[in-house]
Amino acid sequence: MVSDIFNGRVDLQKFRTPAYVTFLDKLEENLKALKRVEDESNARVLLALKAFSMYETFALISRYLKGTVSSGINEAMLAREYFGGEIHVYAPAFKAEEVRALATFCDSIVFNSEAQIDKFANLARKTARESGREIHIGLRVNPEYSEVETQIYNPCARGSRLGALRESLTDGIADKIDMIHFHTMCEQNSDVLERTMHHFEKKFGDIIDRVRFANFGGGHHITRSGYDTGRLVKIVKDFYTRHSNIEKVYLEPGEAVALNAGYFAARVMEVVKNGVEIAILDCAVPCHMPDVIEMPYRPRIVGAGEPGEKKYTYALGGRSCLSGDRVGEYSFDEPLRENDILFFEDMSIYTMVKTNTFNGMGLPDIDMFDSRSGRLDVVKSFGYSDFKGRL
Ligand SMILES: *Cc1c(COP(=O)(O)O)cnc(C)c1O
Repeated sequence: MVSDIFNGRVDLQKFRTPAYVTFLDKLEENLKALKRVEDESNARVLLALKAFSMYETFALISRYLKGTVSSGINEAMLAREYFGGEIHVYAPAFKAEEVRALATFCDSIVFNSEAQIDKFANLARKTARESGREIHIGLRVNPEYSEVETQIYNPCARGSRLGALRESLTDGIADKIDMIHFHTMCEQNSDVLERTMHHFEKKFGDIIDRVRFANFGGGHHITRSGYDTGRLVKIVKDFYTRHSNIEKVYLEPGEAVALNAGYFAARVMEVVKNGVEIAILDCAVPCHMPDVIEMPYRPRIVGAGEPGEKKYTYALGGRSCLSGDRVGEYSFDEPLRENDILFFEDMSIYTMVKTNTFNGMGLPDIDMFDSRSGRLDVVKSFGYSDFKGRL
């Protein structure tokens, strides 16, 4: 056995893999930190469902956060069914039937261009009114400033379609919207927000002064160690002071909500040799940890070191037929044996929401662990029908 994240409180012989295991106490720790930001800054913190949509935890999350932001109709419907609270939606483009449906239950729709607003704002306002509600119309803008270095995650990269450029907007735009929105950060600290704010206000200051709400997007890595929360609180408070017309500032982190709150567990099935020893796991990286390939990055494993650091080094790979179904090389104190379980760290975010069944791979169990009671709940298991149902 390599290591045991459950401290002996779960029977590992019976523990089913592959599985995502979310730790409720770690999730709650994050939520408390986010709630403190909300209380101290008067910003409203929303969960971005794109990163984490494990709705079995929404009852817990909604005790701390008052709403969600969705990337479209499906996430918004999940938010309505399991989260409640404020429901915000942004997408680069909407279809008329989606706007009609969203306007019956969402609090805001954030559009990506003035053309989308001209096309849909009236429909949204009219539909909302007919349902006896009020809806806020937002515009995502592109401040043309981002410090994100990985280009596929940089919304301000050259040629980006995300957010309206200042030069694309007419003089009348401020009269058409209630909220101005930007999202330009990824896993960053509040100093980046501070520099971004400067560009945002310089480019869009006249619009900011004429709307009721401002949304600073996601990418705020608030719950990681070393994050400067004090600076974030100050940025938001100063923003309120400079723009007395702003009723609410929103932050919509995804990652920060469930950061380091869960693991991905996979078992060793076989060890083969080709130059190095290679352990084949009962998972598939492109299906179950796609960011490892997409980003790319090397996830940490509990109890494992860099290659050569500990006595036994292995390359780790999954059991799909893709040659690139590999995690990288890791070293261990003991040789890996069949049935050993490896726990990959920080696997609640951008995992369950991104799985696929390429190569006929099954989907991992979704588990919840409560360290206080020592109780492990398998909240979801999948089978053949989940694979077949999408084809
Ligand atoms: C992805 C996304 C978020 C959440 O980003 P994190 O990096 O997970 O915090 C928030 N808002 C928008 C518009 C997004 O696209």
